[in-house]
Amino acid sequence: MAPMKNASPVGDIQSAIRAAGARVTPARVRALAALRAASSPQTHAEIEETLAQEAHPAIDRVTLYRVLDWLCSAGLAHKAADARGVFRFSAAQPNVEHAGHVHFRCTGCGGVFCLKSPPPPAPALPRGFRLGGMALDIRGECPRCVRAHS
Ligand SMILES: [Zn+2]
Ligand SMILES: [Zn+2]
Repeated sequence: MAPMKNASPVGDIQSAIRAAGARVTPARVRALAALRAASSPQTHAEIEETLAQEAHPAIDRVTLYRVLDWLCSAGLAHKAADARGVFRFSAAQPNVEHAGHVHFRCTGCGGVFCLKSPPPPAPALPRGFRLGGMALDIRGECPRCVRAHS
């Protein structure tokens, strides 16, 4: 699916949500817009605070949790714990199929970065086992956190 030229950011967000096979709701659009506008990974509370400053009805806490989890499962956002163990959310790079490459998780800021490498092949399984999925946890520090700690 080619992105439309000259599409407004909101139009981009709406089509990304539609492409994920979901209904476009104001809460999903606003949460994803807030993540894409953020310069660093955001906690649930920070996103809640950003959205509360908008001239729209507030999104209640539970709905926002659900929306953020949905964005992550739809591949539109990433979730990773920061150095204090607090989960932070960041927008996934738009118009990219994230199943085709692996991700690097920064343990400093909770950022998640797309790597160019494809996922490794599944290991050979003993007889009788059936593979259901693989999750690879590649972690360390991003360049910004490395600089901050040296
Ligand atoms: Zn970092
Ligand atoms: Zn990715």
